[in-house]
Amino acid sequence: MDARDALSAEALRRFAHDAVDWMVDYMTEPGGDGPILSPKLTKDVFDLFREELPNEGSEPGAVFEEFREKIVPDATHLQSPGNFAYIPNSTGVIGVVADILTATMNQNVSLVRGGPTAAAVESQVVGWLQSLLEYPESGGGVLTSGGSLANLMGLALAVHRAGAGDDLTFYFSDETHSSMDRALRFLGLPPEALRRIPTDVQFRMSPEALEQAVKDDRARGKRPAAVVATVGTIGSGAVDQLEALSAVCEWHSLWLHVDGAYGALSAAAESGAWMRPGLALADSLSIDPHKWLFVPVGTSCLLVRDVDFMRRFFTVVPEYLKVSASEGEIRQPMEHTMELSRRFRALRLWMSLKIYGARAVRAKIEDHLQWTQLLASWVEAAPDFELSAPVMTSTVCFRYVPTGVESEEALDRLNEELMERVNREPGLFVSRNRLRGRFTQRVCITHLRTTEEDIRRLWEAFQKMATTL
Ligand SMILES: *Cc1c(COP(=O)(O)O)cnc(C)c1O
Repeated sequence: MDARDALSAEALRRFAHDAVDWMVDYMTEPGGDGPILSPKLTKDVFDLFREELPNEGSEPGAVFEEFREKIVPDATHLQSPGNFAYIPNSTGVIGVVADILTATMNQNVSLVRGGPTAAAVESQVVGWLQSLLEYPESGGGVLTSGGSLANLMGLALAVHRAGAGDDLTFYFSDETHSSMDRALRFLGLPPEALRRIPTDVQFRMSPEALEQAVKDDRARGKRPAAVVATVGTIGSGAVDQLEALSAVCEWHSLWLHVDGAYGALSAAAESGAWMRPGLALADSLSIDPHKWLFVPVGTSCLLVRDVDFMRRFFTVVPEYLKVSASEGEIRQPMEHTMELSRRFRALRLWMSLKIYGARAVRAKIEDHLQWTQLLASWVEAAPDFELSAPVMTSTVCFRYVPTGVESEEALDRLNEELMERVNREPGLFVSRNRLRGRFTQRVCITHLRTTEEDIRRLWEAFQKMATTL
């Protein structure tokens, strides 16, 4: 091992340079020629990697070649500009370079002394995210590995505020993301604790139904604890009416957690600015920079209004984590989160926001919102297609509805087949959903490299493939 790690500086440099050269090529090559999703059977992909634990080491260059030949071709090319599936993750080169530097420094952002500059940069980056969305300055937060962890932590805070007990009740909508259901489970809350509030025609949680459910629970001796609202539902990108929901929460002293993992960042753009006052009402708010701020996967954030409460909840200081009195003046990163050892994930955002600048970031998100409206207008104008939901952020759900197909089940099957054919086209990737039980195409636009031309290419593929059904 020593021999490998003590390769000459020259050999290490060559290894690193080869990797960086490959990275820049990969990040800048035009999309559209190959499939995004590997056409190989998963079993065959797994078979490619079956080998005995290597006893003897190899030359770094040989292993890098193997990476290029075996790992890259059958990877999912999420960096391709034609990626519209799920919530497209995309990173710029800056985030990738920052990751190399992060791993090089290998800071451990649990205690300040594990990386004082890293802790300071994280604190500043969280402040920038607050400022980007106009979340109250008096609040604060922490970066997390993903939106699921941010949602779990938000719900844990809500439970703690209410005081544990088996009479607590929670209010989700029928469009709430599955990470919240899992958070309930992780927190040991039974399914009976959950009320699923119906959504309106725009797929937004009904404030009236919420109010009624809370009152009913109170009357039955239950303790309503928290409402989970969503800004940008996974299903159709719907935005709950935060002002109205917050009023119910205020009145009944409920915690308002807003799952903004996908959609909250649309509030950074001009035409999403109307959402900012609502976001400011959230007791806790999760956002996913890895979905819409052009940094690698593993970058999310939980913002909270009451940071002191957050600290009281997360702080447990055993002897081995104590620091000297003078160091204790600064808040420790571990006082804000469930994780202990943490990588310096703020560097990606710090470098990206400094190099791009907030103006360019806002403009890019604005482009995405505009192109979403453009695609929706094409769908609406096409006689054989229909929108399945209003467009509120950057998701378009629609169906192919040719004349002569009467049964809903047949339409579902037809649309599933259409999705599969579009996904076999080079350089395109879309995903699926059901709204009110009916299959829909689901296109989401958050990718750094997507252009208006890619949206046009996607729509043409839908139209062309529909004629082949
Ligand atoms: C993506 C998403 C999540 C989960 O976030 P991860 O970062 O994937 O863990 C939660 N809620 C919504 C609305 C999302 O879009």
